[in-house]
Amino acid sequence: MRAAVLHEIGQDKLEILDDVEAVGFGPGRVRIRIRATGLCHSDLSAMSGVLPQPAPFVPGHEGAGEVVEVGENVRHLKAGDRVVVCWLPACGACAACKRGQTQLCLAGFMNAGTPNFKRAGQDVFGFAGTGTFTEEVVVDAGCAVPIPDDVPFDIAALIGCGVTTGLGAALNTADLTAGSSVAVIGCGGVGISTVQGARLRGAAEIVAVDPVEARREAALRFGATRAVAPEELADAKQQVTAGEGFDYVFEVVGRSATARTAYENTRRGGTLVVVGAGALDDHLRLSMFELFFDEKRILPSLYGGGDVLRSYERTIALWRAGRIDLEGLITHRVPLSGIDEALEQMRTGTALRTCIEI
Ligand SMILES: [Zn+2]
Ligand SMILES: [Zn+2]
Repeated sequence: MRAAVLHEIGQDKLEILDDVEAVGFGPGRVRIRIRATGLCHSDLSAMSGVLPQPAPFVPGHEGAGEVVEVGENVRHLKAGDRVVVCWLPACGACAACKRGQTQLCLAGFMNAGTPNFKRAGQDVFGFAGTGTFTEEVVVDAGCAVPIPDDVPFDIAALIGCGVTTGLGAALNTADLTAGSSVAVIGCGGVGISTVQGARLRGAAEIVAVDPVEARREAALRFGATRAVAPEELADAKQQVTAGEGFDYVFEVVGRSATARTAYENTRRGGTLVVVGAGALDDHLRLSMFELFFDEKRILPSLYGGGDVLRSYERTIALWRAGRIDLEGLITHRVPLSGIDEALEQMRTGTALRTCIEI
């Protein structure tokens, strides 16, 4: 079958190969025919080495498709079921799961060193234990979450990562209050989802910050009240908050430099939410004085910062009711063979989300 493979970390192009085999089927496992997958910024970060990932590997972790077959002991699924791929499956039994913080369950990472694919006698890994830039993938049953029939595959794929991450940052982690002032730094698919979450919660002002004009324009369509380039943020802060700083600032880039900017633009006593996925060796610097004296709350948000399956259900309910726009997040569509085009659109910031239809 066909899959897009990165041979070595640091390469910037994927090769579409047709001799890849999905391996690991057995008890507790599910084989999925992928129908749609989004390109998320974390895929690029894994390719470049910012996020740790063994190679060669099949990127992609934001996908949806149909179940082809289920292994022994899999009771919640059958062949033909429509599913979203969850890259952070909850075991249901660990301390984090029992607290309802399934986004912190590490069970899925136990398989991270196990290859999901094989070709020409060589092991091929899947990104984050999944790997969705492929026709088929075999995953733990917990990674296959059934979706209602009215949710199309392209929308379901978005729920698998970007939308859950961005919306959850506003609704779960920040638990944003009505009337507040908000800045969102980084307005790709995740940042735009945060903008929508802030709008849902009744934020008075939502300032979208992004160097790419197309993304700023998109942010305004999705509910931002202003959209500025990074160098205009200081002016926006002055105009919106009289220089005090925003009640909430969301860092949706994953770099210490933007996190520092976000910290400085948060008001004293306000909340900085760190959503971007950053590197192991990129350190955010804060002085002990400012940390204690300014009492800014720093809240990291992993995969929406809440119970993952409940977040999926909430997203579907909001989408069905027309309260959030998910169709509008898909700005480009390509077949698997157009994957390089998708990578280019992500790197240049011309796409909010490119949907790869398989
Ligand atoms: Zn668990
Ligand atoms: Zn992602």
